[in-house]
Amino acid sequence: MNKIQESEKYRLMVENSIVGAYIIEDGKFVYVNRRLEQLSGYTNSELLNMNPLTFVHEDDRAFVAENLQKKILGEECERDFCVKVVDTDGNVKYVHVDGIQVELDGRKVIAGTFIDITEKTIAVKKIEKLVNYDSLTGLYNRHYFNIHSEYLLKKAQRDQSRLAVLLFDIDNFKRINDSLGHKAGDIVLVQTGKLISDVLRDSDYFFRLGGDEFTVIINDFKSESEIKILTKRIQKALRSSIEVDELSFHISLSIGISLFPEHGTSMETLQKSADIAMYQSKKDGKNRFSFFAQDSGSSSKILELENDFYEGIERGELELYLQPQVDVATSRLVGAEALVRWNHPEKGVLTPNIFLPLAQDTGLLYKLDLIMIDKAYNLLKEYDTQGKLNFTISVNISNALFHHQRFFSIMQKFQKKYGHLCKYIMLELTEEILMVDNSHANKIMKSLKLIGYKMAIDDFGTGYSSFGNLKMMEINELKIDRSFIKDIGKNENDKAIVKAVIAMGHSLGLSVLAEGVEEKCQVEILKEMDCDTIQGFYFDKPMPAALFSKCWLD
Ligand code: C2E
Ligand code: MG
Ligand code: MG
Repeated sequence: MNKIQESEKYRLMVENSIVGAYIIEDGKFVYVNRRLEQLSGYTNSELLNMNPLTFVHEDDRAFVAENLQKKILGEECERDFCVKVVDTDGNVKYVHVDGIQVELDGRKVIAGTFIDITEKTIAVKKIEKLVNYDSLTGLYNRHYFNIHSEYLLKKAQRDQSRLAVLLFDIDNFKRINDSLGHKAGDIVLVQTGKLISDVLRDSDYFFRLGGDEFTVIINDFKSESEIKILTKRIQKALRSSIEVDELSFHISLSIGISLFPEHGTSMETLQKSADIAMYQSKKDGKNRFSFFAQDSGSSSKILELENDFYEGIERGELELYLQPQVDVATSRLVGAEALVRWNHPEKGVLTPNIFLPLAQDTGLLYKLDLIMIDKAYNLLKEYDTQGKLNFTISVNISNALFHHQRFFSIMQKFQKKYGHLCKYIMLELTEEILMVDNSHANKIMKSLKLIGYKMAIDDFGTGYSSFGNLKMMEINELKIDRSFIKDIGKNENDKAIVKAVIAMGHSLGLSVLAEGVEEKCQVEILKEMDCDTIQGFYFDKPMPAALFSKCWLD
């Protein structure tokens, strides 16, 4: 092979290579192979004499210019690197470029190759996204939290700087999810993520750890007051309403905050401390934030209580209390509400406000309700055999139980077991069941009515139910919430509302009960308004069944 044949061989190889090749002299291409034409969209003649920076993406232009300059001057620089380029159609592509300074016919030039790595880069980015981001909200996920929180902690230790871990929990999220469905729950999660994101700064890290649990790590702050201001801003942002299927919601957050190094030196402890602080916020009435307090023994007691609760149920420590419901016109007993109490072996009798949130969080609420229903039936049986049964027992049905897949068949089983006693049971449902035109809920209620159960809407007026839905549901009784009754003697608005609800209830053929009646004047006003039934401390507080029997049945 002669010299000409030899160089022709190399020319053909380079020309048809799947690897791109180029030579740059004086900042311009003096040779490009076909691959570069294909990648850039420019023709060979357009490329020759063109400055290569022309199609480098602006993000990488300064870096490439500096690198070329260093190569020409023979200074130390990276031989190969990855950059973004933009083709003639505006598509962004990723290339791995390599180049060295060589001598060509006595002139210094840069000769190199490149490979198109666009597909691979996009695939890697996609995988990174799947691994590190939450697919619903687009926020970082727990996997990324595990890795990155450790990195941030190490950095803070090294720099002797501080960290804050904020833990958020959406108040009553389970209720929203249970009553409106998972799709609505998802919308609430996405919107909450967005509203919080808008307030955060670029240096803050925001994660969704799962469910309705969100965490922010702040690694750039000077004092606690800065954290307080940020937290208040987040709470304020949440005040704007969230729209779900034409319903608008106001949600709130319970927030727990722990600080490094004061409240822990490992991520695990910091998370635990934030969790305890979050429980404190819930216990203090939700929609607030708390910093972890070392001496807050009461918070860790809540966690302790959570463990106790499982065993308490097993050990049969739940007790049914009864509170009388009295006919306004005749002052006779017409019903009693079954209210749960926990006879804690050390802490004494606990009221639901202390342990119902635990029952809900641990998924035991529906079980608690079933225990209460069984107890109520047993009492009815006892009163029946004693010939004292001429009133209903109302049992509270949580949304967790109402939306339980087997709710109807469970209630049917009770009905089969206890027969005619079924018609003495009034199921107290929450107003949220009326909040959406829920044909599923309606079907269940129809079936329950058909087999003999009565149904009431509890705490009426506290939700956003529509009267239209009320008409369609198979309800017997409306229980007006205590908050409207409280000031009925002083507040004209409350009085007007109660009057309207009673009139509306009657026009729909429902019986109306007023909750939380404590004073005689309230009884007088309600009597005047033609309210049917009264429940409240005015007549009696909830009491153990044996005492109830003595006071009200003998
Ligand atoms: P609720 O169903 O609206 O029950 C009425 C609550 O008001 C009871 O509180 C009762 O003690 C209280 N109350 C009654 N009359 C008066 C009054 O005149 N003044 C005042 N200030 N309060 C009065 P309790 O027993 O602490 O129960 C609180 C809530 O816990 C109940 O509200 C109900 O939502 C829930 N709950 C109670 N037992 C159960 C249960 O077995 N299952 C479920 N799912 N929830 C239950
Ligand atoms: Mg109730
Ligand atoms: Mg109530």
